[in-house]
Amino acid sequence: MTEQKVLLTGDRPTGKLHIGHYVGSLKNRVAMQNSGEYNPYIMIADKQAFTDNARDPQKIHNSLLEVALDYLAVGIDPQKTTIFVQSAIPELSELTEYFLNLVSIARLQRNPTVKTEIQQKGFGESIPAGFFIYPVSQAADIALFKGEVVPVGDDQEPMLEQTRELIRTFNRTYDVDILKEPQGIFPPKGQGRIPGLDGVKMSKSLGNAIYLSDSQDELWNKIKSMYTDPTHVKVDDPGHVEGNMVFTYLDIFDPDTSKVAELKAQYQQGGLGDMKLKKYLFEVLDAELTPIRERRAEFAADREAVLAMLAEGSKRARQTAQTTMHEIREAMGIEYWN
Ligand code: ATP
Ligand code: MG
Repeated sequence: MTEQKVLLTGDRPTGKLHIGHYVGSLKNRVAMQNSGEYNPYIMIADKQAFTDNARDPQKIHNSLLEVALDYLAVGIDPQKTTIFVQSAIPELSELTEYFLNLVSIARLQRNPTVKTEIQQKGFGESIPAGFFIYPVSQAADIALFKGEVVPVGDDQEPMLEQTRELIRTFNRTYDVDILKEPQGIFPPKGQGRIPGLDGVKMSKSLGNAIYLSDSQDELWNKIKSMYTDPTHVKVDDPGHVEGNMVFTYLDIFDPDTSKVAELKAQYQQGGLGDMKLKKYLFEVLDAELTPIRERRAEFAADREAVLAMLAEGSKRARQTAQTTMHEIREAMGIEYWN
């Protein structure tokens, strides 16, 4: 058997996971986990969640279990994947601090994802220092576990670039070859940045998401309020497909592409009402979400067991982290007593 590659990825506990996570990342993680080709680690990034939610610890606390339940519901299997909590691994903070000396402030300022997020979050002149440097902490996450493949959404591309740079700099500076440059695995075109109900990136933090745990009523209400085409007033009016969120979602989520093509033609010609179209989208999404919703409810019945699973995963992850940290300290010449 060839050696398994280390897979590392994660999510912030800032809310429940949404359908953007599902197609953009979770589905792929489950497939990779089950392929047997990887040694997967999945991290719940609570420390990172604090970088823009420091004053809302309750949200982070509550979301930890919600994210874990979402993982289990979609088929992440703790027997195959080490699921762990970032704050349970203090070595991550240590490595972050060493990495910070290997990157300039000017370089951090160039990160396009961070730039967009700073605008969206309305920090103005008061950007928390921890938020500004979170890509460095993300580089430490990947480096410490020697992550080789990192399946993530499109917004993470600049983080991976930064991670590779830092790892190269570290290895060069301390004349070692211990840290590995990771490779990003991105979803197929169009699935790496699913738009939210308002058209911007679907995010837990922006209140524009369809959650994996939404009930049928919640799902229908969200679909009902979706933006279609303001010029499509009467059923018989010809309608527009571009910029119409219902079609955007059908393109992403409906495997029956010929049916979608048929609906588009009918909509453009006139004669297909918004309600009918939305009901169809509801059926498509609900078929995907019902089994997830049901499995989630089963796991949610025993929250203690989920917490115990996280404790076990974190313990295992910490052992790996300590081994690498030892190598890092040795490379830096600060392992004075061993
Ligand atoms: P937050 O608003 O707190 O940043 P988020 O919804 O952006 O939450 P993250 O925890 O930051 O979620 O991201 C977890 C993973 O999911 C990352 O790999 C990210 O690229 C991916 N991801 C996030 N949002 C989307 C989306 N809309 N479409 C596809 N992938 C996404
Ligand atoms: Mg995010």
